[in-house]
Amino acid sequence: MTFTTRFAPSPTGPLHLGHAYSALLAHDMAREVGGKFLLRIDDLDQSRARPEWEQKIYDDLTWLGLSWDGPVRRQSEHLGEYATALAHLRDLGLTFECTCSRRDIIAASNAPQEGAPLFGPDGRIYPGTCRAQNHPEKSATCTRLNIQRAAELGLPASFQETGPKYAGSYPLTADDLIQTIGDVVLGRRNMTASYHLSVVLDDVATGVTQVIRGEDLFEATRIHVLLQSLLNVPTPSYHHHSLIRDPQGKRLAKRDDARALSKYRNEGATPADIRNFVGL
Ligand code: GLU
Repeated sequence: MTFTTRFAPSPTGPLHLGHAYSALLAHDMAREVGGKFLLRIDDLDQSRARPEWEQKIYDDLTWLGLSWDGPVRRQSEHLGEYATALAHLRDLGLTFECTCSRRDIIAASNAPQEGAPLFGPDGRIYPGTCRAQNHPEKSATCTRLNIQRAAELGLPASFQETGPKYAGSYPLTADDLIQTIGDVVLGRRNMTASYHLSVVLDDVATGVTQVIRGEDLFEATRIHVLLQSLLNVPTPSYHHHSLIRDPQGKRLAKRDDARALSKYRNEGATPADIRNFVGL
C-alpha cells in the first residue's frame, strides 16, 4: 500500500508556523518513502470558511515549496457522503437525536447524582439525557453516537501511533469509550456531519494510510478509530507531533496573526528560515 498522508487545514484564518510544521513534516515523510502527500480543505463549517483564506493556503504552501498529489478535496463538496454514512449508523441503531443546549448539558452533568463531570476531547462528556427519548430528527439540534450501544458491540478496535511522544499500540476498551468519549456528536442540523465523522470518511475516501497531525487531536483519535470500526473501514496509523508554541509557551492559534506565515514572508524570511524556525 502506498504511504499516503494529508494536510487538512480549515480555511478560517491565516496559516501560522504550527501549520507550516505540520505540512512540511507530512510532506517530507511522504516524499522520503515515495508516498503521496494530499491536500484537503476542511471547510465543513461554511459559516467560518472563506475563499480568500483557501487561496492563501495554496499561496503559502506553494511558497514553502510544497506540492501535493492529485486534486484538492474540499469537505463542502462531499456532504452527501457524510449524510449517507450518518444514515447508515442511524439504521444500525447506533445514534440518537439530541435536543439539549449547552446549558442543558452543563446542568445535567452537574446534577449531584452524576458525580464529578467527566471531560473528553469535545469537552464535557454528554450525560445521556436524550439517549432513551426517541426525539424526531426534525426537532433535534444534533445526532449523537449512542456510546453504550457502540461499546456493547465489543468491536475489535485499536490503533498504532508512531509519533515519538506517544508511540505504541492503543486498544479501545468499552469502559474507556464510555468514560472518555461519551455520546459524541456525529451530525449537526446546520452542518450535516461533525468534524469527527467527516475526517474519518475523508481519510477513507482518499486512501490515507498515515494521519500526521498535531497532538491536540491525539485524544480525538479514539473517536475516529471507533467510527472506523463501526463503519467497517480501515484504520490508518497515526503520528501526532508536538505543537509549535510561542515564546510564552502558548500554542499558536489562527487569531495570532503575528505568527502568520505571510507575515514572516513579507518581512523577508525564506522557506529555509521557516524550516529552521520549526526545527526541521
Ligand atoms: N482540519 C483539522 C484542523 O485544522 C485537522 C483535521 C485532522 O487532521 O484530522 O485542525
